[in-house]
Formats: sequence, structure tokens, C-alpha cells
Amino acid sequence: MKELEYLILTHPDADHSGGLDAIVKNFKVNQVFVGNGKADTKTYKSFIQACMDKKLQPSVPLADKEFALGNGTFKFYNQKAQYDDVNDNSLVALYVNGSNKFLFTGDSGKEVEAKLPLKDIGTIDVLKVGHHGSKSLSSDAFIKAIAPKYAVICCGKDNKYGHPHKETTTTLSKYKVTTYRTDISGTIIVTSDGKKITVTTENKTTEKAGSSATNNSATINTTVKKQETSTTQPITTTVYITKTGEKYHKDGCSSLSKSKIAISLEDAKGKGYGPCSKCCK
Ligand SMILES: [Zn+2]
Ligand SMILES: [Zn+2]
Repeated sequence: MKELEYLILTHPDADHSGGLDAIVKNFKVNQVFVGNGKADTKTYKSFIQACMDKKLQPSVPLADKEFALGNGTFKFYNQKAQYDDVNDNSLVALYVNGSNKFLFTGDSGKEVEAKLPLKDIGTIDVLKVGHHGSKSLSSDAFIKAIAPKYAVICCGKDNKYGHPHKETTTTLSKYKVTTYRTDISGTIIVTSDGKKITVTTENKTTEKAGSSATNNSATINTTVKKQETSTTQPITTTVYITKTGEKYHKDGCSSLSKSKIAISLEDAKGKGYGPCSKCCK
């Protein structure tokens, strides 16, 4: 991956803005969104400086505006927030791709969560669990209402905050949400082709994730779990196709258009796509 269509900094805290200057320096970033409010921290300033060096103008996204990404669109909530706690000013993003929906709530707390328009959001497929799994949000009523199929918790191993909190994992398991944690699974990549969600994890661990579900399978369908016929456990490879092309590509292939669509290799082959001669030798 060399190009990022959007870079979204939900709020300026160092655990979110730290290292972003390096991302801006080393990747082609097309648009930068930030949450409302001011920040004076060193990490935030280096990030803003890196943006300026690249002639990028970080902006707070407008309410009710939809932004295109791949075949889907995303929009934001809470962009006008002016809370005292910087976490509560987090941008909340909803990404809709075909029938797949993702919700990202940043580090916002219960107050923000309670104000989210549940009717507009509806039920979702993937929840990036707010505030690293803190009990400061992810209330029973909220998880019940949005009924996520999958949850992803970003938290450090043995972190000093005790994230994710037991209250959160208990609620997620109560509503049978398949939960992935970065402290257990390492990098977690969730791919959507508009119909199906594919989750790939760095570590194929069998360690129990507390009371939440344990996941070491490479591919999970949102509908019925499809059992692979091959003898070995398949590791999902993500390839890219375009609307009109007949070939699948690796990311970064020069034949890929901007509107590339991520798909699993297996699906691409199944749908009759062939390997691109440039990138898939
Ligand atoms: Zn955070
Ligand atoms: Zn924070």
C-alpha cells in the first residue's frame, strides 16, 4: 500500500496522532480529516507540520456530507463537538460499502455515544470498539441497538489502563459479537467486498480473549460460515479488481485505477478474474 485516500485523526491524543507525521511523509495521502478542537501537543504539531510540508490541509469534515471510498461512502458524526474532554471530541465515522457497514467511534465516551442517531446508523457489521474497549462507552443499550457482527478492539498488551475493560467484553459476548483484539491477534485487517466481510489477523493464536470470542480463522462470512474444501487452513490474500477489468492485481499495481475494489484472492478466482501479468507473476 502506497496511497491513502483519506487519513482520519479522530482526536489529537498522542496514542492516535503519534507516528502520523511519518505516515504523511512516507505515503501519498489525498485528504486529511481531523476532529474539532485545538491541540498543542508535540506529536500533533509534528503531524500538522508534516501535512503542511505536503501541502495537505487538515479539515473538520462537514456534517451530512458523504465521502466516497472504493465502492462505498462514509460520513461523520460528532464533528461539532466542544467537550472539555478531548476524547469526547472524537470524530465518529460510519462507512457503508454495499451491504457492509463499519462504525468507528474514536475515544468518545457515553455522552457522545448516547447522542449518535441510532436510526440513521442502523445495525452494523463491524464496530471498531470505542476508546480501546474502555467501559466509558459501549453501553449495553448501544451494542444491543447496533448489533455488530464483529468488533475490533485496539489495545496494547498488559496496558496500564486495563483495556479492554471486563464490562465491555462482557457486553460484547452477551450479544455474541465476534471480537478481535490487537493485543492478542496483532494487526487486524478487515476487508469488505460489499457483501462479505473478511478478517485477517497477524497472529493465528488460539489464546482465549477473555470472555469474548476467540478467532483464529482466516475467513469468516457474514452470512453462513463457508467451510473451505482445501486440506490446509487458507490464509486470505487480498487482491484488487476494478469495475471493468478482467484481471486481479496486487496493491500498488500500475494498472489499478483509483476505484480499485478489495476482494479475497479466492473470490477473485471464483468470479473468473485472472492474474495480472504485470504484478502477479
Ligand atoms: Zn486512544
Ligand atoms: Zn484519546
